[in-house]
Amino acid sequence: MPEDRSLDEFAPVDENADSDDAADPAAVDPAVATSTWHADGAACDRCGEPVERRWRDEGDFVCADCASW
Ligand SMILES: [Zn+2]
Repeated sequence: MPEDRSLDEFAPVDENADSDDAADPAAVDPAVATSTWHADGAACDRCGEPVERRWRDEGDFVCADCASW
């Protein structure tokens, strides 16, 4: 009955090093990992509309209008 694995679960999660869009953690709901926030705006992969927030949809990052909810 292992009870000493709590330290493993506190391993630092540092996988945001490749984020070049200066995402603001406070502006992103941590529960919604499928969306990205771009303070300077980013083009929707489907309609090309520049938006501040995009959602991952089948490998693309799309605006709210293009996301399939
Ligand atoms: Zn779009």
